[in-house]
Parts: sequence; C-alpha cells; structure tokens
Amino acid sequence: MNKQDDYQTSWNNDEVHVSVPFSAAGVGTTVIITSKFTGKMILLDVGDGALRDLLSASANYGFVNEIDLIAISHGHFDHVGGLHSLLGFMRMMKRTNPLNIVIPAQCKEALGIIQGFREYYRETLPFKIWYHESSHGSGFDTDFFKVKSYGVEHYSLENASIDENEVLEPALGFRVQVGETTVAYTGDTRMCPGAELVVSDADFALIEATYQDSPGTERQVHLSRAEAQKLGTLAKEFTLIHMIPKSD
Ligand SMILES: [Zn+2]
Repeated sequence: MNKQDDYQTSWNNDEVHVSVPFSAAGVGTTVIITSKFTGKMILLDVGDGALRDLLSASANYGFVNEIDLIAISHGHFDHVGGLHSLLGFMRMMKRTNPLNIVIPAQCKEALGIIQGFREYYRETLPFKIWYHESSHGSGFDTDFFKVKSYGVEHYSLENASIDENEVLEPALGFRVQVGETTVAYTGDTRMCPGAELVVSDADFALIEATYQDSPGTERQVHLSRAEAQKLGTLAKEFTLIHMIPKSD
C-alpha cells in the first residue's frame, strides 16, 4: 500500500473542521465534520478503522457523546464496515444521547447492522438508535447539522455478471450545512446529475476518484481522476479521496 499520507486529508474554515483520517477504495472511508462552535460531530461513512481513527484524534472518550449524526452513503463494506464497532464502543462507554443514522432507502447492509445491534442489545443499550431511510431530495436536520441527500449512480459490482441490465446500489451523496458552511461528499458514484448537484457551489467538496484512468468501455462504477477533477471545479474548493491502494 501507499504511505499513510496518501489516504488522509483535512480542511478548515472558521466554523468547521473536516477530517478524513483514512480513505481508500475497497479498504475504508470515514469523514469527520466537527463544528468549531459546538464541538458536535457528524460522520459521513464509517469504514473499517473508524473507531480507531476517532480514538487517535481525540484526547479523551468524551467524543462518544459528541457524535450527533452518522450518514451512510451506501452499503459496501468499505463504507459501513466500522459501524458495528462504533456502536459497540458507544454502548460500552454508556452513551446516553440518542443517535440518528441517515441511510439510503433499502440499504440492506446498514439495516442489517443497525437492526441486528438493536436486537442483540435490546436489554442493555443505554441510548436510542434511530435510522432514517433517505432518498434523492430528503433532508434531515438536527440542532447542529442540516443534511441533504442526493441519489447518485453507483453500479453494483457484485451483480455485474448476472444481469445484462444495470443494477445500481441504493447510494447517496450528501451536502452538510454547518452554520454558513456547506461541505459536500459524493460517496461512491460515476458521473451523474446527482453528483453534480451534491458538489455545486459547496464551500468544500470531497470527491471520490477511484480510478487513475477511466476504465473505458466497462460499466462505470466510479469516477476517474479526470472526471472527479472536472466535478470539483463546480465547488469552491475540493479534494479527491477514495483512491485504489497501490499494490506490487
Ligand atoms: Zn462502493
């Protein structure tokens, strides 16, 4: 794999700190947006290692109660793989604040993790978990964050060989408003109108750029670097994430 710096990035303004402690295609992606005024956090996707990354970024375990909201872009393992661990840690640390989780409608992986967790620990869970199945145009607001969901086109790789027709994952991109600041996150997507809506005029956009080069005639699952850069010009500032790790 590449050196660690290739997988992490951050961005700041007066209101918001955006941290991507780790993002690599097929491994894990987590985005942490923190309000500088309230200290509250929203997580966009919780790939494997999300809990470890949160722990290494925080001086104490108090962050457990500061995570206001989690938004999951789609059900692939590299975007939801850390959810069970994070919920388990919240339970162990006796989180009390209710937790809201925005998920794409009919995202079976996210539903399975959340419903399973609530079921296993029904008697001993010290906080409520509420999930919200969202689709294109859905909005979800808390006291600290406003999240708008946009449907994006993420071709379902695992079904590629069984159907001549295209099978798309339930997949969302998000725009998160914190005060006057808008942070955009495409999730996994190919070039599509939804991805343009996510990114347009955002103060800062995190854009997936899985492919070094476009795979050409293959079905489009992700953005190429060139496509992602073109999309990025719609935002005021942007950074590319979700690259494929190099391998010998
Ligand atoms: Zn994916």
